[in-house]
Amino acid sequence: MENAKPKTTPAAPIRTAEILCVGTELLLGDIVNTNAAFLSRRLAGMGISVYHQAVVGDHPGRLTQALEEAYAGHGRPAAQLVILSGGLGPTYDDLTKETVASFFGRDMMLHAESLARIKSYFGKLGRCMSCNNEKQAMMPQGAVVFPNDYGTAPALAVSDGERTAILLPGPPSELEPLFDRQVRPWLSQFTDGVLISRNIHIMGMGEADVEAKLCDLMVSSTNPTLAPYCKEGEVRLRVTARADSEAQATALCDRLVEAVQSSEVGPFIYGVDVENVESALVQTLTRLGLTIACAESCTGGMLGERITSVPGASAVFAGGCITYTNRMKVEQLGVSQATIDRYTEVSAETAAEMAVGVRRVCHTDLALSTTGYAGPGGGTPEHPVGTVFVGIASDHGVRTLKLSYAAGKTRDYIRRAAASRAFLEAIREVMPDNDSQ
Ligand code: ATP
Ligand code: MG
Repeated sequence: MENAKPKTTPAAPIRTAEILCVGTELLLGDIVNTNAAFLSRRLAGMGISVYHQAVVGDHPGRLTQALEEAYAGHGRPAAQLVILSGGLGPTYDDLTKETVASFFGRDMMLHAESLARIKSYFGKLGRCMSCNNEKQAMMPQGAVVFPNDYGTAPALAVSDGERTAILLPGPPSELEPLFDRQVRPWLSQFTDGVLISRNIHIMGMGEADVEAKLCDLMVSSTNPTLAPYCKEGEVRLRVTARADSEAQATALCDRLVEAVQSSEVGPFIYGVDVENVESALVQTLTRLGLTIACAESCTGGMLGERITSVPGASAVFAGGCITYTNRMKVEQLGVSQATIDRYTEVSAETAAEMAVGVRRVCHTDLALSTTGYAGPGGGTPEHPVGTVFVGIASDHGVRTLKLSYAAGKTRDYIRRAAASRAFLEAIREVMPDNDSQ
């Protein structure tokens, strides 16, 4: 009797996946595993849950073992889909395809269309194809092949109905467009539902505090889920909903976002789905038609750099002064020498005069200033390393804020965190319901 043709597409809707990145370079730390992050994000958006990511070296035995574990689960939900990246190249150490073929019990066969494409790829580059490249046109029997317009190695999918493997080339410049343009449309035929995430950005409240205030909401929310995580000195809450359609998932998320906004955490939220605090500031000022300038001592230009890294910053940012020495503070910003003599350059009084000074010099609606001890040396008993004063000047007058970062925080952390907090204060200064501040 003739062998039945192997199944080539998934039978049940795919809900669980694992990401398996292949490459000894990854294990050595020579390259950063951006493929795993990219694929996880994409799968989350498709409603496919990723419970595990793994990295294995270029070794068939260990790769086979990793595949067995992924499909078996081993204490985590078993993966219906494994996405592998890397090892599809022409050289002897590129073994992913052959290993997956033998895992699924498939023979390798020449894929004529891929061979023609690889030949024409080299033809266009004016180069001769080496015999090695022929290897890239060999495919496991029954594989679905996704032509690669960005390199030589095609991507492919192998499935026995229950278990599916998708193999992608390692270079992100190939993997990312191949996934988006070829693999995703194919894979979405076998998924049910969508996963939508929204990110709530919180500053001025620690992660433990946020968790304590939202504990009930977190425990009671299963769809959407509510999960906190820390990034760049702030707390973010990720709201994730699964539903049949994008509209339903969005509505579920919106409801939970509103619940968080009206909780005790609400006043500490500076944005939802914003890139970062400087983007939120530029957006807010643009919307209100306001301008800003900065006088910087300990941040040494970081405020200006971060604001101008946001596209469209020219609509709101006038400029600023880096005034590191006292002389510059006096000559450029008009800070009074008497203030510095009496309170020192790291003081609320100096920060206030710096903000007022730069606002006058730059003719803006708003101005920020920073002065502090970022360390590791310096500081005084009264104002140790980690003390930063922020000044905020506007039509409302000028106010200051004393920030104190714990001993042991690095210079970079203190400067970045102080800059972020200054941006947050600028947003608060101009929000209509913050007139009293
Ligand atoms: P090639 O044809 O280039 O050999 P390949 O599919 O065999 O492609 P690898 O040899 O594993 O892929 O990796 C090639 C390059 O792709 C690596 O040197 C690295 O720059 C990049 N790369 C591989 N895996 C990853 C990953 N997980 N994240 C980011 N970059 C990666
Ligand atoms: Mg390779």
